Amino acid sequence: MELRFNHGTVPLPAFFPDGTRAVVRCVDSLDLEASRVPGIVINTYHLMTHPGVSVVKALGGAHSLMGWDRPILTDSGGFQVFSLIKENPKRGDVRVDGVRFKRENGDTVNLTPEACVRMQFALGSDAMMCLDECTDLESSRDACERSVERTVKWAKACRVEYERQVAQRKLARPPLLLGIIQGGAFNDLRRQCAGALRDMHFDGYGFGGWPLDGDGKLDTEILRVTADSMIDGLPKYAMGLGMPDAIVACVDMGYNLFDCVVPTREARHNRLYIFNEQWERAEDIDPRADGFFRRLYPLDEEYWRDPRPLSKVCDCLCCQRYSRAYLSHLYRIGDPLAYRLGTMHNLRFYTQLMERLRDLRGKASALEDEAPAKRGAGDE
Ligand SMILES: [Zn+2]
Repeated sequence: MELRFNHGTVPLPAFFPDGTRAVVRCVDSLDLEASRVPGIVINTYHLMTHPGVSVVKALGGAHSLMGWDRPILTDSGGFQVFSLIKENPKRGDVRVDGVRFKRENGDTVNLTPEACVRMQFALGSDAMMCLDECTDLESSRDACERSVERTVKWAKACRVEYERQVAQRKLARPPLLLGIIQGGAFNDLRRQCAGALRDMHFDGYGFGGWPLDGDGKLDTEILRVTADSMIDGLPKYAMGLGMPDAIVACVDMGYNLFDCVVPTREARHNRLYIFNEQWERAEDIDPRADGFFRRLYPLDEEYWRDPRPLSKVCDCLCCQRYSRAYLSHLYRIGDPLAYRLGTMHNLRFYTQLMERLRDLRGKASALEDEAPAKRGAGDE
């Protein structure tokens, strides 16, 4: 399955790293291309704050600003605003028609569904997200019911504003618009929200809210119920979810689009991801095997004199040219090159993981196609 954006077609399942502030930290657009990154996610809320949506628009949009010509998915900014208000209720309140909040400079901003869609157009988005009211798995039923009601209402307002913008801008190839399914830990609310959003014919659907329970464990049941209530053949987006084993579990449930700060943040915190060293070639990697990956901590003394590359199956700049010993040295002296090389490696680990998941999925469906043919031949 592929997903067509205005800036290119992306095979699914795909992982988009977070370039929240119009930068995937420590790497530039050429580094992203070298890491085979198919697209990135940027955040409307952060760009509204710095450098300002109007500045991005005046500079030709986010693609031109970043020198990046592959797809850009824009987050609505709702998640950040809700997090701010949750931390400090004085920062704002949620109203029927949107969220009102105070920015750091004291200005009051109304984040309405309409404003949210207009800003994502101004950023030059290839795929935009509806404004939703975020809850988590710990939220009460009352809170989740209210969130579903508002999320559906706001999704409708986003859809109307989106159609208006497409007509006004005379866009022959409009960006995609994705709806977000809320409902906390309640299966019936998730299904109800998905049903209402399906009627609005979005280009894809996202799992809204945080899918981890109080103990930090992935709630596979709610993820599965939500995936099953999305439309097959369209993007099923597990928003913000990105531990490698969680991605594998979610792909098996039908999710096909992911974003997360894990590969980039972990690289800046001396945590690098490598596939199990039993595999000699990239095509041997089995992401469904137990312990298919591990973290490597370059500061550890065992790597100080290690002449081997980080990973023998990786073709990133770091693994092709430098040893673990050199990378360990760069991390130990805190040189920014360590974070660049580490980030490129972790991103390539993720893009390799997605390549393997796509290969295995392709092989599985080829086998399914073959099976009836064989049965047919036997019948003759
Ligand atoms: Zn590498």
